[in-house]
Amino acid sequence: MTAILETEALTKRFGNLVANDDIDLVVEEGSTHSVIGPNGAGKSTLFNLITGLLEPTSGEIRFNGEDITHETPHEVARRGLARSFQITDVFDGLTAFENVRVAAQFADDRRSSVWRSAENLAEPRERAESILEDVGLADRADQRAAEFAYGDRRKLEIGITIATEPDLLMLDEPTAGMGREDTVTTIQLVQRLADERDFTLMLIEHDLEIIMSISDTITVLQQGAVIAEGTPAEISANEEVQRAYLGGADL
Ligand code: ADP
Ligand code: MG
Repeated sequence: MTAILETEALTKRFGNLVANDDIDLVVEEGSTHSVIGPNGAGKSTLFNLITGLLEPTSGEIRFNGEDITHETPHEVARRGLARSFQITDVFDGLTAFENVRVAAQFADDRRSSVWRSAENLAEPRERAESILEDVGLADRADQRAAEFAYGDRRKLEIGITIATEPDLLMLDEPTAGMGREDTVTTIQLVQRLADERDFTLMLIEHDLEIIMSISDTITVLQQGAVIAEGTPAEISANEEVQRAYLGGADL
């Protein structure tokens, strides 16, 4: 097993508040790794530290074995660590196809900054077409993003993110504001894409049933600290988690 992401004693304080307290995290390459915990537990803060939106108070973050602790969001993104959907910009004036092609171009620029392998890369245009197919927007490829209703816009956002060809995709409540059915469809779509396109998925999601059904590993935060980590079965059976997080209710 290879760790794609590791944090060591990662800590973030806001004044007197310890939002992330000494967090050691290991995310295995290829896994679906979820972070759960009550409101205010520090989940978003953890994602913000990892993606460079916040500077840690102390501790270390390694991605693909390299220290990214003090990197900017842009530098982190260029390494293939993507965050969606909040900071992914959909360009309203562009068509769905153009939006995805621009993102595919970003992936090429990223690769060419290291090395460029000419033979195995389809053109951004072809990759954009295949991605629109994957997210179910092929028949709307030439429509401007501005015309898209909420659900299709979400699909487009997923397509744009996938087109950047991340090694690790971090999603902070991607289904916020969606109904149950859309939530299930969206998460299943993202997970299918993670499988097919071979990236690691980290997820914050409030729907525990979904979390339990799709995660390989779950980390539970409470008041900034990790109180449990394990498989869905281990987490469901963990009494501290049940007490702390669920007031004794069954997961
Ligand atoms: P979660 O995502 O688990 O709901 P957050 O990471 O958003 O939790 O927040 C953890 C704690 O840190 C909360 O008490 C929150 O109020 C606080 N917090 C988050 N961001 C900031 C900030 N930029 N400035 C001050 N306090 C913050
Ligand atoms: Mg949050």
